[in-house]
Amino acid sequence: MYLPDFDYIAAATVVKASRLLGSLGPEAKLIAGGTDVLPMLKQGTLATKTLISINRLSELKNISFEKGKGHIIGALATHNEVMKSPVLQEKYMSVCETAHRMANNQIRNIGTIGGNISNAVPSADFPPILIALGATVTLQNSSGSRTLPLEGFFMGPRQSVIAQDEILTEIVIPENGFSGSTYHKFGLRRSGALAVVGVAVAVAMEGNICKDACIVLGAVAPTPMRAKEAEALLRGKEVSDALLEKAGKLAAAASNPITDIRGSEEYRRDMVRVFTRRCLRKAMDNGHV
Ligand SMILES: Cc1cc2nc3c(=O)[nH]c(=O)nc-3n(C[C@H](O)[C@H](O)[C@H](O)COP(=O)(O)OP(=O)(O)OC[C@H]3O[C@@H](n4cnc5c(N)ncnc54)[C@H](O)[C@@H]3O)c2cc1C
Repeated sequence: MYLPDFDYIAAATVVKASRLLGSLGPEAKLIAGGTDVLPMLKQGTLATKTLISINRLSELKNISFEKGKGHIIGALATHNEVMKSPVLQEKYMSVCETAHRMANNQIRNIGTIGGNISNAVPSADFPPILIALGATVTLQNSSGSRTLPLEGFFMGPRQSVIAQDEILTEIVIPENGFSGSTYHKFGLRRSGALAVVGVAVAVAMEGNICKDACIVLGAVAPTPMRAKEAEALLRGKEVSDALLEKAGKLAAAASNPITDIRGSEEYRRDMVRVFTRRCLRKAMDNGHV
């Protein structure tokens, strides 16, 4: 499979990239690492006349902590940069572990967290854990920017609220009261496999009492989804194996998976039950977020 012909423009700033996207319209496509865009161009599932690259904008690679704001991850941070970030490792090991389980080393070296989110694929690994931790995203165009909860970003498979001329610039995990979090995915291979089911959990524990819980399911609905009934069941309760099993069942009942080549609807739903229970136990026991 060969790449079709296209023009390639390396944008010098976010504003310039936004202006180009706005003026060229839907025939132009933004590219970051290209690990999704280039295979789609080769397969013919994406047609574009112009690729606008933001890959040289080093200011979008920043990973830092700002008091009062939280942990900031630039949209161009690669999976390996997220995985190896000392700032994230110190507080959100769950996010680093999520990056570690993605794709393979080559893809992790060039694929970006912004591309993973913007692509809006239901099986993407970063969105569930970032939503569970209450992350926001900032979208910028040539006239300004807006910040919204990542939870409200996705509209359907490969559909999001992002406008043609908007660029996702940063992800922020705000300071929160969670005491533990984790993400587990089930893929058909050990490496380079997309999630058949992905479950992310963040909890706030006081002794054995669950003060708060956020459960996000990936790959089992058109968008990442919260299991809100299971969350409500856990809040304020003393944790037991029976409670976690019940939460798993509620999460499974809320999920809306499809049957495809990677797994049946019934199998995915049962995996949600098992993974929710396991993730809750791990997040409650692990003592780090
Ligand atoms: C072999 C292989 C294995 C993979 N394994 C996994 C896996 O295990 N888990 C997983 O979740 N994904 C996986 N992927 C998918 C892919 O690697 C990720 O989704 C990656 O994070 C995409 O980032 P990118 O920078 O390469 O995006 P690109 O391909 O450059 O762009 C993807 C989409 O996002 C848009 N975009 C990119 N950046 C921005 C931005 N800052 N603002 C607005 N729009 C933007 C582009 O226009 C395009 O529509 C895999 C891919 C391959 C080829």
